[in-house]
Amino acid sequence: MNCDDARQLLEVCADGELGAGDSVRLEHHLEDCPDCVEMLGALRTLRKLVRDGATYFET
Ligand SMILES: [Zn+2]
Repeated sequence: MNCDDARQLLEVCADGELGAGDSVRLEHHLEDCPDCVEMLGALRTLRKLVRDGATYFET
């Protein structure tokens, strides 16, 4: 998996809708890729803000 693949999965993962197979593949990539780990953290923060009712992010 490259970072482009990983980032597509990260979006799904941040929504909590990632399948088991993709989840394992993504985790393997994250072990070697701090950039994508950081991206996942940012996406999760964004999702949380949206869920908590912040309205200044366009979805
Ligand atoms: Zn990556």
